[in-house]
Amino acid sequence: MSLKESMLRYSIVPEDLKHIVLDFKQMEDFIKHPLIMAKADGVWLEDIEGKRYLDGLSGVFTVQVGHNNPRIKEAIKKQMEKICFAPPLHATNIPAIKLAKLMAEIAPGDLNTVKLLSGGSEATEAAMKLGRQYHTQTGSPKKYKVIARYWGYHGATMGGLSATGFPHRKAIFEPTMNGFIHVFPPTCYRCPYGLGYPDCGIRCATIVEDVIKMEGPKTVASMILEPIGNTGGIITPPNEYFTILREICDKYNVLLMFDEIINGFGRTGQMFAAQTFNTIPDVLITGKSMASGYTPMGAITFRDKVEQAFWGGGSDRAFSHGHTFGGNPLSSTATLASIEEIRERDLVTNAREMGGYLRAELEKLKNSDTLGNIIGDIRGKGLMIGVEFIKNHETKESFDIPFGKEVEKILIQKGLILRCDPNWIAFAPPLIVTKEELDQMIRIFVEGVEETLEKVKAGKVSKSFDKF
Ligand code: PMP
Repeated sequence: MSLKESMLRYSIVPEDLKHIVLDFKQMEDFIKHPLIMAKADGVWLEDIEGKRYLDGLSGVFTVQVGHNNPRIKEAIKKQMEKICFAPPLHATNIPAIKLAKLMAEIAPGDLNTVKLLSGGSEATEAAMKLGRQYHTQTGSPKKYKVIARYWGYHGATMGGLSATGFPHRKAIFEPTMNGFIHVFPPTCYRCPYGLGYPDCGIRCATIVEDVIKMEGPKTVASMILEPIGNTGGIITPPNEYFTILREICDKYNVLLMFDEIINGFGRTGQMFAAQTFNTIPDVLITGKSMASGYTPMGAITFRDKVEQAFWGGGSDRAFSHGHTFGGNPLSSTATLASIEEIRERDLVTNAREMGGYLRAELEKLKNSDTLGNIIGDIRGKGLMIGVEFIKNHETKESFDIPFGKEVEKILIQKGLILRCDPNWIAFAPPLIVTKEELDQMIRIFVEGVEETLEKVKAGKVSKSFDKF
């Protein structure tokens, strides 16, 4: 059956695709080879032609408990019979209250107060606004600047984009907002300071103090970062990194904000990366995986000292922020069910164990005769593991062609979805993944890399690529 015939079975014609715009995609190219998913189950996706794909990326770091989960579907159905939308200016609702309480329970330390939202960018924006209002209401009204990191991604909205630290997503929209300062993250494999761990003294962390001093401590409100950075290639800090940052932020009254939109909900081998790195942020930012993608969801969860700045004193002191769909009853219900599923099945332990297995298998490849030459580094924790490709171990030189993007084309043909960048590829399958499923993913990955190497040798790889 042709693609056109498959489309017709769903009452779609190719021209229909001209009306839709995908994220960061050139639609003229996309509609030539459109990928249209029709259904999914567990770690498998299926397109309208019936072709199956292993979902090695949990959708996009989102479908934590896997696709087609009966508990979440049932919970949403039941909630639909009761109330689908509650008036957010006048009331809250039962699932939202239960979810906020559950978040306070599973988040570490005194991260006890929750503002429910509907997605990642809403959550990073809300966190940064919360930071400014917090300082205004605690006697430091001039604190407004945000320290973020190069390579970090914090959302597509103007605030999130201003915190984002690499040009290809933001250059077209510049100038972005004022008051955002960037520092280099701990890319130890390619230290920006030319130092080596542990003799470096974790300069990438200690330099934050110098930056705060130069900016003026009275002007710096918060620091936002992803504990393990996705963009930039699964940037994984050494253990001391967060102890140092926590101390600096406390010393200068700067709110430390963890963007756990990808890292949260078991991904790094603990419920939150805050626990993986034993550091409690002032604000925990979550999104994507909260409801395992069954409904849109986002949240910020903050510490008691932050909450106290907003408690009492009339409506002027209330957090001046809101979104129509924040705390939506259906989304809250889906999130409650997803968290219950993670806890009851102990999927966090599975993430740790399967992540360990995946990593060990990738390490074997790094030491093998076949792929050892081109795997420079393996990074990450839990089920968020990245592989960096290089041309030469001594110089760490990257390919001058988009190697990972070329691998991606083959992986899609063979039925595997991973996060593929020109120089690195990441695995982040649903937390329910089994050893057998990981073995299948690794086998396809190896085939994809080997076939790409053949193409490179034959000079069949072009330098241009779709930047996503
Ligand atoms: N922060 C991080 C770390 C993300 O990965 C993303 C999404 N890729 C966002 C923020 C923005 O989330 P959303 O796309 O849901 O707005």
